Amino acid sequence: KRRNPHQDEFVQAVQEVAEDIFDFIADKEEYHEQQILRRIAEPDRVVSFRVCWEDDNGNIRVQRGWRVQNNNAIGPYKGGIRFHPSVTESVLKFLAFEQTFKNALTGLPMGGGKGGSNFNPKGKSVREIMRFCQSFMTELYRHIGADTDVPAGDIGVGGREIGYMFGQYKRITNQFTGVLTGKGLEWGGSLIRTEATGYGAVYFLDNMLKHKGDSLDGKVAVISGSGNVATHAAEKILHLGGKPITLSDSGGFIHDPDGLTQEKIDWVKTHKTHRRGRIKDYVDAFKGATFHEGKTPWNVECDVALPCATQNELLGDDARALVANGCIAVSEGANMPSNLDAVHVFKDAKIMFAPGKAANAGGVAVSGLEMSQNSARRAWKEEELQVLLRDIMDGIHDRCLTYGEMGGGYTDYVRGANIAGFKKVADAMLAFGVV
Ligand code: NDP
Repeated sequence: KRRNPHQDEFVQAVQEVAEDIFDFIADKEEYHEQQILRRIAEPDRVVSFRVCWEDDNGNIRVQRGWRVQNNNAIGPYKGGIRFHPSVTESVLKFLAFEQTFKNALTGLPMGGGKGGSNFNPKGKSVREIMRFCQSFMTELYRHIGADTDVPAGDIGVGGREIGYMFGQYKRITNQFTGVLTGKGLEWGGSLIRTEATGYGAVYFLDNMLKHKGDSLDGKVAVISGSGNVATHAAEKILHLGGKPITLSDSGGFIHDPDGLTQEKIDWVKTHKTHRRGRIKDYVDAFKGATFHEGKTPWNVECDVALPCATQNELLGDDARALVANGCIAVSEGANMPSNLDAVHVFKDAKIMFAPGKAANAGGVAVSGLEMSQNSARRAWKEEELQVLLRDIMDGIHDRCLTYGEMGGGYTDYVRGANIAGFKKVADAMLAFGVV
């Protein structure tokens, strides 16, 4: 806290990891001597820059942009770009720190980074968004590269924004390289990238249940968010025989006791992405559903829960409500949606709890596969990628078991993910000497 004043999210993320790592390295002299945890918790660099753009009324607007390059011990920095008014240096440092462990867990050669701006895309015209993206890339281009740092999308940054940024990178550098992932299929993107995070979070949930001899069949799922991750998580829950009953956005949540169908999910995708609508409109489109303004869905009875909106959206009392209502498993589609108090509640109750760095790694994993396809200058088939995604999520589950089996049939997935991710990065850093 003293080293990072006013960076609460970053301190929270480091604290969560440190709890497990201290225990693991207690009898491992080399990690202490080399101050490895402290080194991973200090980003290699944080670049902060001005993003100046002109709105449709001719006003000059000034925003702040960042790229946090946390660690490149096992591969080029890799992590998304977020455009949201809540973006601060602390938020991006926590995300870049988490990303380092997540990327290590995938087994692919990717370091950790994250970037973004406090720019709010809501209510902006397409031209304004384009001008902002171009201005953002006019500075960012000098810090990134296919073998240096490969950003992707995140909250507020989808295929369209990646297109504008990629176009500007290409214009400035005259290079067509895999410098960004999440690209359109016509110009270097990978199949199933859009679906990968949500699908992956459900595969991980399925793996946890199977490890206990259970399955998703007939399970009622409560999901937050209504963006990319949430809608694809809902879709995969359906594919595997479960019943998703909620979605949300920053205005509140909808509860559909009949369950979301593919048709309803497709409506939400179009409404949120193309019409830039609000989730509350769902109740006008589909009878039987209710809207709960300003609320999160954690008090709704369920078997499994998937927080897929944003950080710190599931607090201690929410976790207690989930446990009291009989929820047996939680898989985090978002990054750090559960605060420390909530994580402790899940751990104490010994329910299955998959932290984001393990459960939502499917997206970055397919981004890693997009990098491989770009390097080879070819595109793999959907079936090949589906198998690879499932394999990668199975691999992450296995890595979590290596360090997370606590005896008595309980697996601490937070500990498993933290230690497996840390060990891979730490061992690479040890091999490189003190730098
Ligand atoms: P989207 O922008 O597609 O959707 C974000 C969703 O979260 C929207 O429903 C949004 O509602 C809601 N939301 C955002 N901020 C808040 C808030 N402060 N309070 C309540 N709801 C909020 O983003 P993604 O689905 O891509 O990302 C969701 C989470 O998943 C993030 O934590 C992201 O970092 C993480 N993630 C995403 C990956 C990906 O591949 N996309 C990969 C790994 C992690 P509203 O419309 O009202 O803003």
